[in-house]
Amino acid sequence: MNYHILTLFPDMVREGLNTSIIGRAVEQGVISINAVNIRDYSTDKHRHVDDAPYGGGAGMVMQPGPVCDCYEALCRRLGKRPRVLYMTPQGRVFNQSIAQELAREEDLVFLCGHYEGIDERALSLIATDYLSVGDYVLTGGELPAMVMIDCISRLVPGVLNNDESAEIESFHDNLLEYPQYTRPEIYEGMRVPEVLLSGHHRNIETWRRQQSIKRTLDRRPDLLEGAVLTKKERLYLEEIRAEKSSGEKISEERACVREDSMIE
Ligand code: SAM
Repeated sequence: MNYHILTLFPDMVREGLNTSIIGRAVEQGVISINAVNIRDYSTDKHRHVDDAPYGGGAGMVMQPGPVCDCYEALCRRLGKRPRVLYMTPQGRVFNQSIAQELAREEDLVFLCGHYEGIDERALSLIATDYLSVGDYVLTGGELPAMVMIDCISRLVPGVLNNDESAEIESFHDNLLEYPQYTRPEIYEGMRVPEVLLSGHHRNIETWRRQQSIKRTLDRRPDLLEGAVLTKKERLYLEEIRAEKSSGEKISEERACVREDSMIE
């Protein structure tokens, strides 16, 4: 996988992606990071790449010329026109299934805006996808690009040592991952669940699936709609759902009693 990041701050991207697992993958040649400075394509003698917005308003807008010229030079060098992912809070919110789809590409271009963003004409000419990291506004597209590159890279074969570990994590089957434990067996009086010490693989697998379902119900019930569950697991979900709602009712009742007693 070859990533090309078009940015005004190439050092930020290079430095952010040269450590740990991603850094190792670059060293091993499994992925490559090519951070290109859009400013190198400025035709202005002061190397300006932005100007005031037409119609007035706050901030500056990145001009279309340097952005498009930067992309066209890259395409000439590569001999192809890779997908251009524009980092924008107005885009589709990035998630694991988008990452899985993007991990199948050979080259990806990440276009990072800054200031008030990029002139719309450049976007209409080169952007193929509009992606966001969430419903909040950052100062630039570099951090979103790094987040997405990190996530996509974990799905590229050869990046993780153990190919399986990317498969059974949170969002696999639309479930969150089960709780994890390591040594020591007892910490601050809390024991590792007995089943994990049993060596009984089927029981461990069943326990982990149940924990995943329970945790997803507690923390991200919205995911459960698309969860891939067996008939037994569906029954288990119904059970804990019923328990949870009766538990909530009890605590609501208790809260009312408490409020009543406070009124008295
Ligand atoms: N004026 C723009 C708007 O309201 O949509 C926001 C511009 S933002 C200050 C500057 C740049 O940061 C954007 O062009 C984009 O590349 C990046 N950015 C900010 N928030 C982002 C988010 N949630 N996801 C992806 N990129 C984001």
